Amino acid sequence: MRLSRAFIPTLKETPSDAEIKSHRLMLRAGMIRMHMAGVYCYLPLGWRVLRKIEGIVREEMDRIGGQEFLLPTLSRRDLWERTGRWTEYGDDMFRLKDRKKADLALAPTHEEVFSEIAAGEIRSYRDLPQTWYQIQMKFRDEPRPRSGLLRGRQFTMKDAYSFDRDWEGLDRSYALEREAYHRILKRCGLDFVTVRAFSGLMGGSDSEEFMVPSEAGEDRIARCESCGYAANVEVAVSVPVPTESCAADLKKVYTPKTKTIEQVSKFLNISPSGLMKSLLFVTDQKPVMVLIRGDYEVSEAKLAAVLGSAFRPAEPDEVLAWTGAHVGFVGPVGLKDVEIIADEGLKGQHNLTTGANEDDHHRTGIEIGRDFEVSRFADVRSAAPGDACAACGNALTFGTAIEVGHIFKLGTRYAEAMGANFLDAEGEKRPIVMGSYGIGIERIAASVIEQHADKDGIVWPISIAPFHVHLLPVNVSDADTMKVAEALYEDLKKHGFEVLMDDREERAGVKFKDADLLGLPIRVTIGSRALKEGNVEIKPRNSPTVFRVPKTDAIARTVGMIREMKREFAL
Ligand code: ATP
Ligand code: MG
Repeated sequence: MRLSRAFIPTLKETPSDAEIKSHRLMLRAGMIRMHMAGVYCYLPLGWRVLRKIEGIVREEMDRIGGQEFLLPTLSRRDLWERTGRWTEYGDDMFRLKDRKKADLALAPTHEEVFSEIAAGEIRSYRDLPQTWYQIQMKFRDEPRPRSGLLRGRQFTMKDAYSFDRDWEGLDRSYALEREAYHRILKRCGLDFVTVRAFSGLMGGSDSEEFMVPSEAGEDRIARCESCGYAANVEVAVSVPVPTESCAADLKKVYTPKTKTIEQVSKFLNISPSGLMKSLLFVTDQKPVMVLIRGDYEVSEAKLAAVLGSAFRPAEPDEVLAWTGAHVGFVGPVGLKDVEIIADEGLKGQHNLTTGANEDDHHRTGIEIGRDFEVSRFADVRSAAPGDACAACGNALTFGTAIEVGHIFKLGTRYAEAMGANFLDAEGEKRPIVMGSYGIGIERIAASVIEQHADKDGIVWPISIAPFHVHLLPVNVSDADTMKVAEALYEDLKKHGFEVLMDDREERAGVKFKDADLLGLPIRVTIGSRALKEGNVEIKPRNSPTVFRVPKTDAIARTVGMIREMKREFAL
């Protein structure tokens, strides 16, 4: 491709509304333009990258026996009603009506549609297992679509679904997908961690996420360097830091206007770890009190798993009605008809301090079991810095990461809802055991930029670079320069490589800046001074080294370099 003819509208200025690196660089490199919040136009350079990622994903899905489909974006309400997700998806789901006023959704995912096909077509155990996938647009009305392609409201997902006779079969299908995800992410040049995850709206038992450590990430992960344990903080199991002991007697104390842990801690001179938070939630229209150490937060994901159904924080007037006190002064002692769930981190803790169910009062010196009964202990705590690994005791490390993929063992939830059954070898009807596997195409592209860029621009891994070589004749009005450039351009293309030649009549400074910004893996510069000595310059984007080579060796050296780079990503 000749840059003079190419539509690659690079920007010199950093767009002011782009907060994260990948968003800024994609705009500046002319890869994307915003249509509206969370919805982007993919310009030719951006589309080339996304197609390369799709190509890798497709190869790896086909390698494990996946069969490619393309399902519709528009889907019927009744389908989503059957699994309960018409309601569960809430505002995240884009909804519309057709001319007959029938409710439709723009699909945010495709479990329902794929399992409806399975329900209609799969009859016998002989039809199983199956792995189906598609690479297709998804629509989610995300509340905060701020991070460019990392979080779109319209984005491309590869979603795959496995259908098995039993759980052993699902374990095999899941393991194959997991391995395929590892290969995909390695081939795209990403440094990633596989972590235990929360299943969320999907239901099901086991699930893992593929996380790319990055400041731009919206997830937090906990890792143990010693035994390799890694989990999303939402579900990470950990051992809390020991508490500082505090010797307070059981009594009610006057604590005016001290509602927060910080205020109570200061007022009573007790460290937050000696305090106990008493939080009221509502589930199934009933109140539940959750108790947790003052220096920890409740993990919504863990609590959801413990409660087994949807829940919400109690409203201030509900809190008052149930406890007789306002938020900030409630506690378990004397509380009637409310289920009390205590975090496991409170086991063995003494002399606790929490609200007294009376405004402006707290109670100190509380003993669990003596002063009130706990309905059950459960792990509902978000792991936090300072915690130790539950498996080996080593200190956990915490960091932010981008979730690029998520795989689930769904089990039979969808099959049961959609009536996807099969007859087993004994002729008995059984639900198909399913798995679901998603990976974000744009999110991979953005994550690669988050991990592979410097102050000058993108540094593409060769596997997904929009072109392999940036050919840069410095002075296009110099006939000798152009003769060499044109010959190299044709020759490299003949070798099967993708070449972008900057044949624009631009200042050298502008051309070099654009080359760095676009970040193609190899730049071949033809400058008149070096050319007088018969040389051209070859520079990999990922290193500061410039190789001066005789022009007659230029092809062999460039080809060698590309092959070497490709080998790095071949598995
Ligand atoms: P998140 O927690 O980031 O909202 P999710 O848990 O909703 O993601 P899944 O439903 O597991 O995502 O979707 C599978 C994959 O699709 C994700 O791992 C991610 O790569 C991609 N994805 C999900 N939501 C978006 C989005 N809004 N924009 C771009 N990619 C997305
Ligand atoms: Mg997820």
